[in-house]
Amino acid sequence: MRGFLAALVCSSLAAAAPGTLKVRVKSATIDMPLEQYVAAVLAGECNTFRSDEGIKAMAVAARSYAMNLRGRHAAEGYDLCATTHCQRVALDAVTPRLASLAAQTVGDLLWFEGKPAFACYSRRCGGSTEDAAAVWGGMRAPFLRSHADPYCARQPGGEWHWSAPAAEIAAALGKSQLRGPPELDGIAIAQRTGSGRARVLALVGTGEQVRISASSFRFAIGRALGFNTVRSDQWSVARVGGHGAGADGARVGVAAPRRRGGGAEDDATGA
Ligand SMILES: [Zn+2]
Ligand SMILES: [Zn+2]
Repeated sequence: MRGFLAALVCSSLAAAAPGTLKVRVKSATIDMPLEQYVAAVLAGECNTFRSDEGIKAMAVAARSYAMNLRGRHAAEGYDLCATTHCQRVALDAVTPRLASLAAQTVGDLLWFEGKPAFACYSRRCGGSTEDAAAVWGGMRAPFLRSHADPYCARQPGGEWHWSAPAAEIAAALGKSQLRGPPELDGIAIAQRTGSGRARVLALVGTGEQVRISASSFRFAIGRALGFNTVRSDQWSVARVGGHGAGADGARVGVAAPRRRGGGAEDDATGA
């Protein structure tokens, strides 16, 4: 974030203002003026921020990101959803301070090659960000390069764990048209990115391995089981129970951040 905010040109929307966004909030589609949306994203995404300038920077990023991805849910009849898949929208939590800070940046966008920039952000990078191209299959966003982030490295509490019955994982992958072995026994990390994140996974089971991209896996699990489950690609296989591990059969677990210098656990599979 810090790097690209400085690197991109920030200028206001042209006269043809975008007007409203169609935002899916729970089971309703709401026509929301862009600036109301930005304030609601600030309430949803950065209600722990203390710095006014930090919140204003987030307003510009949130607005740019929305304009870049507007219409990604067009097939479902709206522009953006209200979860962290797009940006978390908390209409009821907008405070006068957040509304005022959003208004101080009204219309400001980050631009890249003549379009609103893909100004993505994350809660916590674990100490090093990732190249956009490594996360989103070759995306051209040279302003999102891997770099060290000492601020995130200092933050406590970045660990997370997640596990689910293998059958539930297989069903989630199936919903996104990702095919694994007929019976999933475990997951191995077959390849990591330059910053140490999972790039390619091997789904192991029934005597075979099926390779899929780690981001496809994360999105498939997110769509089916919630985007707060597999929270990033920075993880290791923490624990895998084989057949007989319980009534549900094999369970597959992952944990982050990756242990520095570790590696043996990356290859764990349910055997
Ligand atoms: Zn979405
Ligand atoms: Zn960071």
